[in-house]
Amino acid sequence: MHCPFCSAIETKVIDSRLVGEGGSVRRRRQCLVCHERFTTFEVAELIMPRVVKSNDVREPFNEDKLRSGIMKALEKRPVSADAVEDALSHIKTQLRATGEREIASKMIGERVMDELKRLDKIAYIRFASVYRSFEDVREFGEEIARLQD
Ligand SMILES: [Zn+2]
Repeated sequence: MHCPFCSAIETKVIDSRLVGEGGSVRRRRQCLVCHERFTTFEVAELIMPRVVKSNDVREPFNEDKLRSGIMKALEKRPVSADAVEDALSHIKTQLRATGEREIASKMIGERVMDELKRLDKIAYIRFASVYRSFEDVREFGEEIARLQD
């Protein structure tokens, strides 16, 4: 950003630290032209994008719905509630980070699959088989074979 004192473009970061439990970054900057110092805060945009379903219907992002989908895939699997919350938080961060106002539900599904793949292979297969509706048995078999590698 420009120097707030002289509008110069060239500034440098002289100190950088995490604040608010790591939710934001505080940076001390110095202008290379007038040498004034100033502070900036960097935080993630907290607005969740709206969800665009495959039929083009828009709906608000629904965290509970996402959680229950993940929990369903993880039914009777050895994965802690904390790990599920971490995965949810990770997905939300990724979706916000796109900076998009609207996001395809398909993309959310892909993110969920990435998380499940990491957490529990069986849950991943459960979710993927419903979500991606594997074209045929062969494709499903290939996916399982790929996971076993
Ligand atoms: Zn300046």
